[in-house]
Amino acid sequence: MNTSYWLDRHNEKHYPALDHDLHIHTLIIGGGLTGLATAYECSAHTKQIVVVEADQVGFGSSGRNTGKVTFQHGAIYHKIIKTHSQEAAVAYYQAQKEAINTIETIIDSHGIECQKENKSASIYGNSDKGIRQIQAEYEAYQLLGIPCEYQENVKSPIVMKAALQVENQMGYDPYAYLLGLSDILDQSGIAIYEHSRADDIVRVGSSWRVTINDHHVFAQNIVSATMTPLLDAFTFFYAKTYPSISHLALLDCDRMMQDIMLYGLDDPMTSYHPLHDSKLLCGGYEHNAAQANASDFNAWLNSLCKEWNVEKPLYVWDTQDLISHDYLPLIGALAPRYPDFYIACGFSKWGNTQSHVAAKVIADAIAQRESRYSALFSPSRIEPLLQGKALRMNAKTVMHFLTSQFPKLQDYELEQGKGKRIELDQRLYGMYCDENDDVYIVDIRCPHMGCICDFNEVDHTWDCPCHGSRFAYDGAIIKGPAQSALHSRQQKIPNQIDPREWVTHKDSPTS
Ligand SMILES: Cc1cc2nc3c(=O)[nH]c(=O)nc-3n(C[C@H](O)[C@H](O)[C@H](O)COP(=O)(O)OP(=O)(O)OC[C@H]3O[C@@H](n4cnc5c(N)ncnc54)[C@H](O)[C@@H]3O)c2cc1C
Repeated sequence: MNTSYWLDRHNEKHYPALDHDLHIHTLIIGGGLTGLATAYECSAHTKQIVVVEADQVGFGSSGRNTGKVTFQHGAIYHKIIKTHSQEAAVAYYQAQKEAINTIETIIDSHGIECQKENKSASIYGNSDKGIRQIQAEYEAYQLLGIPCEYQENVKSPIVMKAALQVENQMGYDPYAYLLGLSDILDQSGIAIYEHSRADDIVRVGSSWRVTINDHHVFAQNIVSATMTPLLDAFTFFYAKTYPSISHLALLDCDRMMQDIMLYGLDDPMTSYHPLHDSKLLCGGYEHNAAQANASDFNAWLNSLCKEWNVEKPLYVWDTQDLISHDYLPLIGALAPRYPDFYIACGFSKWGNTQSHVAAKVIADAIAQRESRYSALFSPSRIEPLLQGKALRMNAKTVMHFLTSQFPKLQDYELEQGKGKRIELDQRLYGMYCDENDDVYIVDIRCPHMGCICDFNEVDHTWDCPCHGSRFAYDGAIIKGPAQSALHSRQQKIPNQIDPREWVTHKDSPTS
Protein backbone atom coordinates (compact mmCIF):
# COMPACT_ATOMS: atom_id res chain seq x y z
CA MET A 1 0.00 0.00 0.00
CA ASN A 2 1.01 3.54 -0.71
CA THR A 3 3.73 2.73 -3.24
CA SER A 4 3.57 4.73 -6.43
CA TYR A 5 3.66 2.55 -9.55
CA TRP A 6 5.87 5.13 -11.27
CA LEU A 7 8.42 5.22 -8.46
CA ASP A 8 8.43 1.44 -8.17
CA ARG A 9 9.22 0.70 -11.80
CA HIS A 10 12.47 2.67 -12.15
CA ASN A 11 15.80 2.47 -10.45
CA GLU A 12 16.17 5.53 -8.30
CA LYS A 13 18.78 8.11 -9.18
CA HIS A 14 21.08 9.06 -6.37
CA TYR A 15 22.58 12.48 -5.88
CA PRO A 16 24.88 13.42 -3.00
CA ALA A 17 23.76 15.27 0.12
CA LEU A 18 25.04 18.83 0.51
CA ASP A 19 28.15 18.79 2.70
CA HIS A 20 29.75 22.20 2.22
CA ASP A 21 28.93 25.93 2.14
CA LEU A 22 28.03 27.58 -1.16
CA HIS A 23 27.77 31.07 -2.67
CA ILE A 24 25.51 30.95 -5.74
CA HIS A 25 23.15 32.95 -7.92
CA THR A 26 19.95 30.93 -7.50
CA LEU A 27 18.99 28.24 -5.01
CA ILE A 28 16.05 26.09 -6.01
CA ILE A 29 14.50 24.27 -3.06
CA GLY A 30 12.54 21.16 -4.08
CA GLY A 31 13.39 18.44 -6.59
CA GLY A 32 9.93 17.91 -8.08
CA LEU A 33 8.69 18.98 -11.51
CA THR A 34 8.60 22.65 -10.52
CA GLY A 35 12.14 22.68 -9.13
CA LEU A 36 13.74 20.81 -12.02
CA ALA A 37 11.77 22.63 -14.73
CA THR A 38 12.76 25.98 -13.18
CA ALA A 39 16.42 24.93 -13.09
CA TYR A 40 16.10 23.93 -16.76
CA GLU A 41 14.58 27.28 -17.76
CA CYS A 42 17.10 29.28 -15.68
CA SER A 43 20.08 27.36 -17.04
CA ALA A 44 20.08 29.38 -20.27
CA HIS A 45 20.76 32.50 -18.20
CA THR A 46 23.11 31.28 -15.45
CA LYS A 47 24.89 28.08 -14.47
CA GLN A 48 25.21 29.13 -10.84
CA ILE A 49 22.07 27.23 -9.91
CA VAL A 50 21.78 24.55 -7.29
CA VAL A 51 18.77 22.32 -6.58
CA VAL A 52 18.31 20.88 -3.08
CA GLU A 53 15.79 18.18 -2.29
CA ALA A 54 14.81 17.11 1.25
CA ASP A 55 14.18 13.53 0.17
CA GLN A 56 14.88 12.19 -3.34
CA VAL A 57 14.16 13.73 -6.72
CA GLY A 58 10.54 13.08 -7.71
CA PHE A 59 9.48 11.59 -4.39
CA GLY A 60 6.85 14.33 -3.84
CA SER A 61 3.63 14.56 -5.86
CA SER A 62 5.55 14.68 -9.12
CA GLY A 63 6.44 10.98 -8.98
CA ARG A 64 2.97 10.00 -7.78
CA ASN A 65 0.44 11.67 -10.07
CA THR A 66 -1.92 10.39 -12.78
CA GLY A 67 0.43 11.25 -15.65
CA LYS A 68 -1.96 13.41 -17.69
CA VAL A 69 -0.42 16.31 -19.57
CA THR A 70 -3.37 18.38 -20.74
CA PHE A 71 -4.85 21.86 -20.82
CA GLN A 72 -8.23 20.35 -19.85
CA HIS A 73 -8.07 20.89 -16.11
CA GLY A 74 -11.49 19.64 -15.03
CA ALA A 75 -14.15 22.24 -15.86
CA ILE A 76 -11.96 25.22 -15.10
CA TYR A 77 -12.43 27.63 -18.00
CA HIS A 78 -16.00 28.80 -17.27
CA LYS A 79 -14.97 29.30 -13.62
CA ILE A 80 -11.97 31.45 -14.59
CA ILE A 81 -14.17 33.55 -16.89
CA LYS A 82 -16.70 34.04 -14.06
CA THR A 83 -14.13 34.73 -11.33
CA HIS A 84 -11.64 36.75 -13.40
CA SER A 85 -12.32 37.52 -17.07
CA GLN A 86 -12.33 36.06 -20.56
CA GLU A 87 -8.81 37.46 -21.10
CA ALA A 88 -7.61 35.62 -18.01
CA ALA A 89 -9.08 32.35 -19.32
CA VAL A 90 -7.41 32.85 -22.71
CA ALA A 91 -4.06 33.49 -21.02
CA TYR A 92 -4.48 30.41 -18.80
CA TYR A 93 -5.20 28.27 -21.87
CA GLN A 94 -2.25 29.69 -23.81
CA ALA A 95 0.09 29.14 -20.85
CA GLN A 96 -0.92 25.46 -20.58
CA LYS A 97 -0.59 24.92 -24.34
CA GLU A 98 2.89 26.45 -24.33
CA ALA A 99 3.79 24.19 -21.41
CA ILE A 100 2.65 21.08 -23.30
CA ASN A 101 4.76 22.14 -26.30
CA THR A 102 7.78 22.72 -24.05
CA ILE A 103 7.42 19.30 -22.41
CA GLU A 104 7.06 17.64 -25.80
CA THR A 105 10.15 19.45 -27.13
CA ILE A 106 12.23 18.50 -24.08
CA ILE A 107 11.19 14.85 -24.36
CA ASP A 108 11.83 14.66 -28.10
CA SER A 109 15.04 16.67 -28.29
CA HIS A 110 16.67 14.81 -25.40
CA GLY A 111 15.18 11.41 -26.18
CA ILE A 112 13.63 10.97 -22.73
CA GLU A 113 11.99 7.56 -22.49
CA CYS A 114 8.85 8.28 -20.51
CA GLN A 115 6.14 6.53 -22.50
CA LYS A 116 4.90 9.74 -24.04
CA GLU A 117 1.65 9.09 -25.90
CA ASN A 118 -0.68 11.34 -27.84
CA LYS A 119 -4.17 10.91 -26.33
CA SER A 120 -7.62 12.43 -26.30
CA ALA A 121 -8.98 13.75 -23.03
CA SER A 122 -12.56 14.13 -21.91
CA ILE A 123 -14.43 15.58 -18.99
CA TYR A 124 -17.87 14.10 -18.35
CA GLY A 125 -20.92 14.34 -16.13
CA ASN A 126 -23.89 12.12 -15.36
CA SER A 127 -25.60 14.04 -12.56
CA ASP A 128 -27.66 17.19 -13.26
CA LYS A 129 -24.89 19.28 -11.73
CA GLY A 130 -22.20 17.50 -13.73
CA ILE A 131 -24.14 17.91 -17.00
CA ARG A 132 -24.70 21.63 -16.29
CA GLN A 133 -20.96 22.04 -15.73
CA ILE A 134 -20.14 20.29 -19.01
CA GLN A 135 -22.55 22.60 -20.84
CA ALA A 136 -21.10 25.70 -19.17
CA GLU A 137 -17.62 24.51 -20.04
CA TYR A 138 -18.63 23.86 -23.65
CA GLU A 139 -19.87 27.45 -23.93
CA ALA A 140 -16.58 28.67 -22.44
CA TYR A 141 -14.57 26.60 -24.97
CA GLN A 142 -16.56 28.15 -27.81
CA LEU A 143 -16.01 31.64 -26.46
CA LEU A 144 -12.28 31.01 -26.06
CA GLY A 145 -11.91 29.20 -29.39
CA ILE A 146 -10.76 25.91 -27.85
CA PRO A 147 -11.31 23.07 -30.36
CA CYS A 148 -13.53 20.37 -28.81
CA GLU A 149 -16.37 17.94 -29.39
CA TYR A 150 -19.50 18.00 -27.23
CA GLN A 151 -20.98 14.50 -26.85
CA GLU A 152 -24.20 13.12 -25.32
CA ASN A 153 -25.12 9.64 -24.12
CA VAL A 154 -21.76 8.05 -24.74
CA LYS A 155 -21.83 4.35 -23.80
CA SER A 156 -18.17 3.44 -24.08
CA PRO A 157 -15.68 3.21 -22.41
CA ILE A 158 -18.04 4.15 -19.58
CA VAL A 159 -21.50 5.68 -19.51
CA MET A 160 -21.35 9.46 -19.93
CA LYS A 161 -24.54 11.49 -20.32
CA ALA A 162 -22.55 14.58 -21.35
CA ALA A 163 -18.88 14.82 -22.27
CA LEU A 164 -16.45 17.33 -23.73
CA GLN A 165 -13.55 15.83 -25.64
CA VAL A 166 -10.31 17.46 -26.77
CA GLU A 167 -7.61 15.96 -28.99
CA ASN A 168 -3.81 15.92 -29.01
CA GLN A 169 -3.21 15.81 -25.29
CA MET A 170 -0.46 13.69 -23.76
CA GLY A 171 -0.05 10.84 -21.31
CA TYR A 172 3.38 10.03 -19.83
CA ASP A 173 5.23 8.47 -16.94
CA PRO A 174 5.89 11.57 -14.78
CA TYR A 175 8.74 10.03 -12.78
CA ALA A 176 10.59 8.84 -15.91
CA TYR A 177 10.21 12.34 -17.34
CA LEU A 178 11.61 13.84 -14.14
CA LEU A 179 14.58 11.47 -14.15
CA GLY A 180 15.24 12.52 -17.76
CA LEU A 181 15.09 16.17 -16.74
CA SER A 182 17.51 15.56 -13.87
CA ASP A 183 19.95 13.90 -16.33
CA ILE A 184 19.84 16.97 -18.57
CA LEU A 185 20.59 19.26 -15.62
CA ASP A 186 23.35 16.99 -14.38
CA GLN A 187 25.00 16.93 -17.81
CA SER A 188 24.79 20.71 -18.12
CA GLY A 189 26.65 21.15 -14.83
CA ILE A 190 23.80 22.06 -12.51
CA ALA A 191 24.26 20.47 -9.10
CA ILE A 192 21.41 18.54 -7.49
CA TYR A 193 21.66 17.56 -3.83
CA GLU A 194 19.33 15.02 -2.24
CA HIS A 195 18.64 14.43 1.46
CA SER A 196 19.29 18.13 1.87
CA ARG A 197 16.42 19.84 3.66
CA ALA A 198 16.37 23.64 3.75
CA ASP A 199 15.38 24.42 7.31
CA ASP A 200 16.29 28.01 8.11
CA ILE A 201 16.02 30.89 5.64
CA VAL A 202 17.16 34.37 6.62
CA ARG A 203 18.03 37.59 4.84
CA VAL A 204 21.70 38.58 5.16
CA GLY A 205 22.33 41.92 3.48
CA SER A 206 21.22 41.63 -0.13
CA SER A 207 21.43 37.79 -0.15
CA TRP A 208 19.55 34.91 1.41
CA ARG A 209 21.22 32.48 3.76
CA VAL A 210 19.73 29.01 3.89
CA THR A 211 20.83 26.36 6.37
CA ILE A 212 21.00 22.87 4.90
CA ASN A 213 22.60 19.88 6.64
CA ASP A 214 24.34 22.34 9.02
CA HIS A 215 25.93 24.18 6.07
CA HIS A 216 25.13 27.62 4.74
CA VAL A 217 24.07 28.39 1.19
CA PHE A 218 24.18 32.10 0.26
CA ALA A 219 22.08 32.92 -2.81
CA GLN A 220 20.81 36.05 -4.53
CA ASN A 221 17.54 34.34 -5.46
CA ILE A 222 15.54 31.61 -3.79
CA VAL A 223 12.89 29.53 -5.54
CA SER A 224 10.70 27.64 -3.08
CA ALA A 225 9.52 24.80 -5.34
CA THR A 226 8.37 22.86 -2.31
CA MET A 227 4.63 22.63 -3.15
CA THR A 228 3.87 24.48 0.09
CA PRO A 229 6.21 27.50 0.10
CA LEU A 230 8.67 27.78 2.95
CA LEU A 231 7.92 31.44 3.83
CA ASP A 232 4.55 33.12 4.22
CA ALA A 233 5.73 36.61 5.30
CA PHE A 234 2.15 37.85 5.76
CA THR A 235 1.20 37.18 2.14
CA PHE A 236 -1.54 34.83 3.40
CA PHE A 237 -1.04 32.27 0.68
CA TYR A 238 -1.97 29.68 3.31
CA ALA A 239 -5.42 31.21 3.22
CA LYS A 240 -5.44 31.41 -0.58
CA THR A 241 -5.03 27.65 -1.04
CA TYR A 242 -5.93 24.45 0.78
CA PRO A 243 -4.29 21.00 0.77
CA SER A 244 -6.25 18.18 -0.84
CA ILE A 245 -5.36 14.49 -1.03
CA SER A 246 -6.51 11.96 -3.65
CA HIS A 247 -5.82 8.27 -4.00
CA LEU A 248 -4.70 6.36 -7.08
CA ALA A 249 -5.15 2.69 -7.88
CA LEU A 250 -3.57 0.78 -10.75
CA LEU A 251 -5.78 -2.04 -12.07
CA ASP A 252 -5.07 -4.83 -14.49
CA CYS A 253 -8.39 -5.00 -16.36
CA ASP A 254 -9.71 -7.54 -18.78
CA ARG A 255 -12.28 -4.97 -19.91
CA MET A 256 -10.22 -2.69 -22.13
CA MET A 257 -10.77 1.00 -22.04
CA GLN A 258 -10.40 3.19 -25.12
CA ASP A 259 -7.21 5.21 -25.19
CA ILE A 260 -8.80 8.29 -23.71
CA MET A 261 -8.04 10.09 -20.45
CA LEU A 262 -11.24 10.78 -18.52
CA TYR A 263 -12.15 13.10 -15.67
CA GLY A 264 -15.61 12.83 -14.08
CA LEU A 265 -17.14 15.97 -12.61
CA ASP A 266 -19.79 14.23 -10.50
CA ASP A 267 -19.32 13.82 -6.81
CA PRO A 268 -17.24 11.79 -5.93
CA MET A 269 -14.61 12.79 -8.50
CA THR A 270 -13.17 10.08 -10.78
CA SER A 271 -10.15 10.16 -13.03
CA TYR A 272 -8.93 7.52 -15.50
CA HIS A 273 -5.71 7.19 -17.43
CA PRO A 274 -5.46 4.01 -19.53
CA LEU A 275 -1.83 2.87 -19.73
CA HIS A 276 -0.22 0.11 -21.79
CA ASP A 277 -0.89 -3.66 -21.42
CA SER A 278 -4.51 -3.30 -20.24
CA LYS A 279 -3.45 -1.35 -17.17
CA LEU A 280 -5.81 1.35 -15.98
CA LEU A 281 -4.77 4.08 -13.55
CA CYS A 282 -7.78 5.32 -11.57
CA GLY A 283 -7.94 8.38 -9.32
CA GLY A 284 -10.54 9.11 -6.66
CA TYR A 285 -11.41 9.26 -2.95
CA GLU A 286 -10.52 12.92 -2.71
CA HIS A 287 -10.54 14.60 0.69
CA ASN A 288 -9.07 17.56 2.48
CA ALA A 289 -6.00 17.04 4.65
CA ALA A 290 -6.63 15.13 7.89
CA GLN A 291 -10.04 13.82 6.81
CA ALA A 292 -9.08 10.32 5.68
CA ASN A 293 -11.62 7.72 6.71
CA ALA A 294 -10.77 4.02 6.40
CA SER A 295 -14.30 2.82 5.61
CA ASP A 296 -14.87 5.45 2.88
CA PHE A 297 -11.48 4.61 1.39
CA ASN A 298 -12.26 0.86 1.37
CA ALA A 299 -15.70 1.52 -0.14
CA TRP A 300 -14.05 3.50 -2.98
CA LEU A 301 -11.50 0.76 -3.61
CA ASN A 302 -14.11 -2.03 -3.53
CA SER A 303 -16.45 -0.24 -5.93
CA LEU A 304 -13.54 0.35 -8.31
CA CYS A 305 -12.55 -3.33 -8.27
CA LYS A 306 -16.18 -4.35 -8.81
CA GLU A 307 -16.70 -1.92 -11.68
CA TRP A 308 -13.57 -3.09 -13.50
CA ASN A 309 -13.92 -6.73 -12.50
CA VAL A 310 -10.57 -7.16 -10.74
CA GLU A 311 -9.86 -8.93 -7.49
CA LYS A 312 -7.50 -6.33 -6.13
CA PRO A 313 -5.44 -3.40 -7.43
CA LEU A 314 -1.80 -3.86 -8.42
CA TYR A 315 -0.81 -0.64 -6.67
CA VAL A 316 -2.59 1.87 -4.43
CA TRP A 317 -1.12 5.15 -3.22
CA ASP A 318 -2.08 8.68 -2.39
CA THR A 319 -0.65 12.11 -2.92
CA GLN A 320 -1.63 15.72 -2.45
CA ASP A 321 -1.58 19.18 -3.91
CA LEU A 322 -2.61 22.70 -2.95
CA ILE A 323 -5.89 23.85 -4.48
CA SER A 324 -6.15 27.53 -5.35
CA HIS A 325 -9.38 29.18 -4.19
CA ASP A 326 -9.60 31.36 -7.32
CA TYR A 327 -8.59 28.57 -9.78
CA LEU A 328 -5.30 30.21 -10.83
CA PRO A 329 -1.89 29.09 -9.58
CA LEU A 330 0.27 31.35 -7.39
CA ILE A 331 3.53 31.92 -9.24
CA GLY A 332 6.17 34.61 -8.83
CA ALA A 333 7.78 36.77 -6.16
CA LEU A 334 6.41 36.00 -2.71
CA ALA A 335 5.62 39.66 -2.08
CA PRO A 336 6.73 43.05 -3.47
CA ARG A 337 9.13 43.42 -0.53
CA TYR A 338 10.68 40.01 -1.37
CA PRO A 339 11.28 40.35 -5.14
CA ASP A 340 14.04 37.71 -5.04
CA PHE A 341 12.11 34.98 -3.19
CA TYR A 342 9.90 33.07 -5.61
CA ILE A 343 7.09 30.60 -4.99
CA ALA A 344 5.00 28.34 -7.21
CA CYS A 345 1.97 26.57 -5.77
CA GLY A 346 -1.80 26.18 -5.98
CA PHE A 347 -1.59 23.96 -9.06
CA SER A 348 -4.94 22.36 -8.12
CA LYS A 349 -3.74 18.87 -9.13
CA TRP A 350 -2.66 19.97 -12.63
CA GLY A 351 1.03 20.57 -12.00
CA ASN A 352 2.42 18.56 -14.91
CA THR A 353 1.77 21.61 -17.07
CA GLN A 354 1.59 24.28 -14.31
CA SER A 355 5.13 23.41 -13.18
CA HIS A 356 6.43 24.38 -16.61
CA VAL A 357 4.31 27.54 -16.65
CA ALA A 358 5.84 28.41 -13.27
CA ALA A 359 9.36 27.62 -14.50
CA LYS A 360 9.04 30.10 -17.40
CA VAL A 361 7.47 32.86 -15.30
CA ILE A 362 10.12 32.55 -12.58
CA ALA A 363 13.04 32.23 -15.02
CA ASP A 364 11.80 35.39 -16.80
CA ALA A 365 11.53 37.26 -13.51
CA ILE A 366 15.03 36.24 -12.42
CA ALA A 367 16.43 37.29 -15.80
CA GLN A 368 14.36 40.51 -15.58
CA ARG A 369 12.45 39.68 -18.76
CA GLU A 370 8.80 40.61 -19.30
CA SER A 371 6.30 37.81 -18.77
CA ARG A 372 2.78 37.82 -20.12
CA TYR A 373 1.59 35.78 -17.16
CA SER A 374 3.32 37.32 -14.14
CA ALA A 375 0.50 39.71 -13.13
CA LEU A 376 -2.23 37.11 -13.67
CA PHE A 377 -0.59 34.48 -11.47
CA SER A 378 0.98 36.87 -8.95
CA PRO A 379 0.96 35.39 -5.40
CA SER A 380 0.16 38.90 -4.06
CA ARG A 381 -3.28 39.07 -5.69
CA ILE A 382 -6.18 39.11 -3.26
CA GLU A 383 -8.90 37.39 -5.35
CA PRO A 384 -8.36 33.95 -3.74
CA LEU A 385 -9.17 35.39 -0.31
CA LEU A 386 -12.49 36.81 -1.49
CA GLN A 387 -14.04 33.53 -2.66
CA GLY A 388 -16.96 32.25 -0.52
CA LYS A 389 -15.32 28.85 -0.18
CA ALA A 390 -12.09 30.46 1.03
CA LEU A 391 -13.91 32.42 3.73
CA ARG A 392 -15.75 29.28 4.92
CA MET A 393 -12.67 27.05 4.90
CA ASN A 394 -10.41 29.60 6.56
CA ALA A 395 -12.99 30.21 9.31
CA LYS A 396 -13.11 26.43 9.85
CA THR A 397 -9.31 26.25 10.09
CA VAL A 398 -9.24 29.01 12.71
CA MET A 399 -12.01 27.24 14.69
CA HIS A 400 -10.11 23.96 14.52
CA PHE A 401 -6.98 25.67 15.75
CA LEU A 402 -8.77 27.25 18.71
CA THR A 403 -11.01 24.37 19.81
CA SER A 404 -8.45 21.58 19.46
CA GLN A 405 -6.08 23.24 21.94
CA PHE A 406 -8.26 22.42 24.99
CA PRO A 407 -9.50 18.84 24.75
CA LYS A 408 -10.36 16.46 27.57
CA LEU A 409 -9.25 13.11 26.19
CA GLN A 410 -8.44 10.59 28.87
CA ASP A 411 -9.37 7.34 27.20
CA TYR A 412 -6.09 5.41 26.91
CA GLU A 413 -7.43 2.13 25.48
CA LEU A 414 -6.07 1.45 22.00
CA GLU A 415 -6.41 -1.28 19.37
CA GLN A 416 -3.63 -2.34 17.01
CA GLY A 417 -3.35 -0.10 13.95
CA LYS A 418 -5.36 2.68 15.59
CA GLY A 419 -4.37 6.16 16.66
CA LYS A 420 -6.11 8.67 18.89
CA ARG A 421 -5.55 11.91 20.75
CA ILE A 422 -4.89 11.71 24.48
CA GLU A 423 -4.17 14.11 27.30
CA LEU A 424 -1.08 13.60 29.46
CA ASP A 425 0.17 16.08 32.05
CA GLN A 426 -2.49 18.52 30.78
CA ARG A 427 -0.97 18.42 27.32
CA LEU A 428 -2.27 16.93 24.13
CA TYR A 429 -0.55 13.95 22.49
CA GLY A 430 -1.24 11.42 19.79
CA MET A 431 -1.03 7.73 20.66
CA TYR A 432 -0.67 4.88 18.15
CA CYS A 433 -0.42 1.12 18.68
CA ASP A 434 1.41 -0.98 16.05
CA GLU A 435 0.94 -4.66 15.19
CA ASN A 436 3.50 -5.70 17.86
CA ASP A 437 1.48 -3.92 20.53
CA ASP A 438 4.11 -1.21 20.88
CA VAL A 439 2.65 2.22 21.59
CA TYR A 440 4.03 5.43 20.11
CA ILE A 441 3.26 8.74 21.76
CA VAL A 442 4.01 11.97 19.92
CA ASP A 443 3.28 15.65 20.46
CA ILE A 444 0.74 16.28 17.69
CA ARG A 445 1.13 20.06 17.71
CA CYS A 446 2.40 20.68 14.16
CA PRO A 447 5.87 22.31 14.34
CA HIS A 448 4.87 24.55 11.42
CA MET A 449 2.23 26.80 13.02
CA GLY A 450 0.94 24.87 16.02
CA CYS A 451 -2.26 23.33 14.56
CA ILE A 452 -3.24 19.99 16.10
CA CYS A 453 -2.80 17.02 13.74
CA ASP A 454 -5.50 14.40 13.19
CA PHE A 455 -4.96 10.67 12.79
CA ASN A 456 -5.22 9.43 9.20
CA GLU A 457 -6.90 6.01 9.35
CA VAL A 458 -5.90 5.07 5.82
CA ASP A 459 -2.15 5.72 5.95
CA HIS A 460 -1.66 5.62 9.74
CA THR A 461 -0.11 9.07 9.73
CA TRP A 462 -0.68 12.27 11.71
CA ASP A 463 -1.91 14.93 9.25
CA CYS A 464 -2.18 18.67 9.82
CA PRO A 465 -5.61 19.92 8.68
CA CYS A 466 -4.42 23.54 8.44
CA HIS A 467 -1.57 23.40 5.92
CA GLY A 468 -1.17 19.74 4.98
CA SER A 469 2.03 18.67 6.79
CA ARG A 470 2.13 14.90 7.33
CA PHE A 471 4.03 12.78 9.87
CA ALA A 472 4.52 9.03 10.38
CA TYR A 473 2.96 7.53 13.54
CA ASP A 474 6.36 7.71 15.24
CA GLY A 475 6.56 11.44 14.43
CA ALA A 476 8.99 11.31 11.45
CA ILE A 477 8.26 14.04 8.90
CA ILE A 478 6.77 12.84 5.60
CA LYS A 479 5.66 16.11 4.04
CA GLY A 480 6.05 19.84 4.80
CA PRO A 481 5.49 22.77 5.14
CA ALA A 482 6.69 21.67 8.62
CA GLN A 483 10.45 21.36 8.52
CA SER A 484 10.93 19.04 11.50
CA ALA A 485 9.50 15.87 13.01
CA LEU A 486 6.83 15.76 15.73
CA HIS A 487 8.41 15.60 19.17
CA SER A 488 8.21 12.08 20.38
CA ARG A 489 7.04 11.73 23.98
CA GLN A 490 8.45 8.24 23.98
CA GLN A 491 8.43 5.38 21.58
CA LYS A 492 7.59 1.74 21.98
CA ILE A 493 5.80 1.56 25.31
CA PRO A 494 4.30 -1.93 25.75
CA ASN A 495 0.53 -1.66 25.31
CA GLN A 496 -0.28 -3.21 28.70
CA ILE A 497 1.28 -0.24 30.51
CA ASP A 498 -1.04 2.70 31.04
CA PRO A 499 0.63 5.78 29.47
CA ARG A 500 -0.12 7.80 32.66
CA GLU A 501 1.91 5.36 34.77
CA TRP A 502 4.65 5.46 32.22
CA VAL A 503 4.74 9.25 32.39
CA THR A 504 5.26 9.25 36.16
CA HIS A 505 8.08 6.70 35.94
CA LYS A 506 10.09 7.99 33.04
CA ASP A 507 12.17 11.01 32.33
CA SER A 508 11.14 14.07 30.32
CA PRO A 509 10.23 13.81 26.63
CA THR A 510 12.76 12.82 24.04
CA SER A 511 12.70 14.49 20.69
C1 LIG B 1 -3.74 12.47 -6.88
C2 LIG B 1 -3.10 13.50 -7.78
C3 LIG B 1 -3.07 13.27 -9.14
C4 LIG B 1 -2.50 14.22 -9.97
N1 LIG B 1 -2.48 13.99 -11.32
C5 LIG B 1 -2.03 14.94 -12.15
C6 LIG B 1 -2.10 14.77 -13.56
O1 LIG B 1 -2.53 13.75 -14.08
N2 LIG B 1 -1.68 15.80 -14.35
C7 LIG B 1 -1.19 16.96 -13.82
O2 LIG B 1 -0.91 17.88 -14.57
N3 LIG B 1 -1.05 17.12 -12.48
C8 LIG B 1 -1.45 16.14 -11.64
N4 LIG B 1 -1.34 16.31 -10.29
C9 LIG B 1 -0.64 17.49 -9.75
C10 LIG B 1 0.88 17.34 -9.76
O3 LIG B 1 1.27 16.09 -9.30
C11 LIG B 1 1.49 18.42 -8.86
O4 LIG B 1 0.87 19.66 -9.08
C12 LIG B 1 2.98 18.56 -9.16
O5 LIG B 1 3.61 17.32 -9.02
C13 LIG B 1 3.61 19.56 -8.21
O6 LIG B 1 4.99 19.54 -8.44
P1 LIG B 1 5.98 20.27 -7.45
O7 LIG B 1 7.33 20.10 -7.97
O8 LIG B 1 5.47 21.67 -7.24
O9 LIG B 1 5.75 19.53 -6.05
P2 LIG B 1 6.41 18.14 -5.56
O10 LIG B 1 6.50 17.18 -6.65
O11 LIG B 1 5.64 17.74 -4.35
O12 LIG B 1 7.87 18.56 -5.19
C14 LIG B 1 8.19 19.34 -4.06
C15 LIG B 1 9.50 18.81 -3.53
O13 LIG B 1 9.99 19.71 -2.53
C16 LIG B 1 10.66 18.95 -1.55
N5 LIG B 1 10.76 19.75 -0.32
C17 LIG B 1 9.78 20.15 0.51
N6 LIG B 1 10.29 20.89 1.53
C18 LIG B 1 11.63 20.96 1.31
C19 LIG B 1 12.70 21.58 2.01
N7 LIG B 1 12.51 22.28 3.12
N8 LIG B 1 13.97 21.46 1.52
C20 LIG B 1 14.20 20.76 0.37
N9 LIG B 1 13.20 20.14 -0.32
C21 LIG B 1 11.94 20.25 0.13
C22 LIG B 1 9.77 17.72 -1.39
O14 LIG B 1 10.49 16.65 -0.81
C23 LIG B 1 9.35 17.45 -2.83
O15 LIG B 1 10.17 16.51 -3.48
C24 LIG B 1 -1.93 15.39 -9.43
C25 LIG B 1 -1.94 15.61 -8.06
C26 LIG B 1 -2.54 14.69 -7.22
C27 LIG B 1 -2.59 14.96 -5.75
